[in-house]
Amino acid sequence: MERATLGKLSVRDLEVPEGGRVLARVDFNVPLEDGRITDDSRIRAALPTIELLLERGARLILCSHLGRPKGRDPETSLRPASERLGELIDAPVHQADEVVGPEVRRGADRLPPGNVLVLENTRWERGETKNDPKLAKELASLADAYVNDAFGAAHRAHASTVGVAEHLPAAAGLLLEREVVTLRGMIERPERPLVVVLGGAKVTDKIALIERFLDTADALLIGGAMCFSFFRAQGIPTGDSLVEDEGVELAGKALELAERSDCRLLLPEDLVLGSEFDAGADVREADGVEVPDGWMGLDIGKGTAEAYGREIAKAGSVFWNGPMGAFELDPFAAGTRAVAEAVAEAPGATVVGGGDSAAALAEFGLADRVTHLSTGGGAALELLEGRELPGVEALDDA
Ligand code: ADP
Ligand code: MG
Repeated sequence: MERATLGKLSVRDLEVPEGGRVLARVDFNVPLEDGRITDDSRIRAALPTIELLLERGARLILCSHLGRPKGRDPETSLRPASERLGELIDAPVHQADEVVGPEVRRGADRLPPGNVLVLENTRWERGETKNDPKLAKELASLADAYVNDAFGAAHRAHASTVGVAEHLPAAAGLLLEREVVTLRGMIERPERPLVVVLGGAKVTDKIALIERFLDTADALLIGGAMCFSFFRAQGIPTGDSLVEDEGVELAGKALELAERSDCRLLLPEDLVLGSEFDAGADVREADGVEVPDGWMGLDIGKGTAEAYGREIAKAGSVFWNGPMGAFELDPFAAGTRAVAEAVAEAPGATVVGGGDSAAALAEFGLADRVTHLSTGGGAALELLEGRELPGVEALDDA
């Protein structure tokens, strides 16, 4: 098969003058607990681009957001991330105290080739999320070229993802490129049959994806709380299960769409019920999908898990987003685990996107058993919905 390309300038082809300064936007938005990183996979995912630039003798300036601070906030400092980076690469890593300003400029000017300077959290600057032209220009003035490797932030038009690219030669990093090419491939030329597994909490979050895949996939398997919007739309009692009112109407439309589509839409055939959303809840296995009052559907049942597993095993390619149940609670994790195992065993190409799906896969120790585990939740979904990602659009054409 012809290798798909991004159509954008790649960091591989970016000309970096000897000792040139490169500003790379990375996604170091890692989970922190008491100032410690609990999962460094986003930092590790950025290493190929970082190492490539350092090997070329660049003076490398990195920037990222972390969390959602609304101004300077030491709790969201990038220092833990830059310290972790320093342990992972064989190059000196320095942490700036600010995002931009005279101190940062001096640091960037004095940075020796082969060294890394990490700017502070871009969201400490109010102009970041507003794509403020002044901030974009200030960021750009630190470097001779720009690389965006922050796929997880590519759906946001911010100063560090979009505005800055106007002022410099702007290339795609290796991670961003792989993410976009792989995810687009799922829509544009998947190995068939394409089996899509969608779960999670809300239909409203995923309706655009459901509609898109009813158009392009061969089978769409629904799990998670969102199946209850479908059941409610079919007039099936859902008890105390999580149902969004708005979701019921959307699910009804999706059911109509499915009737006219070549894609098979599969809903659960059995459930695991709980008396409440709690690991200590009373638990009951239900043969069908009717949920009595006083009970909530919190996982797909064994029969459903097996049926979904069979579909996944037959697939030419699989895309999975959203857990099948409340997998954070032990009694309701089996359905998600079964799907994760089926995806890990599947002979076809397997792509997983979504924060909680990725967390589930990691928790089951299966993260390295899929073809591609997306680092971008929202960005991956928007791309699959067919929307342009501003952070990709802003880069130079190839
Ligand atoms: P992702 O981050 O992978 O896109 P979502 O954020 O859409 O996934 O959904 C994950 C959340 O959905 C989890 O917190 C999980 O507890 C919840 N969830 C899944 N199934 C159920 C259910 N049956 N009842 C209540 N919550 C559920
Ligand atoms: Mg989530």
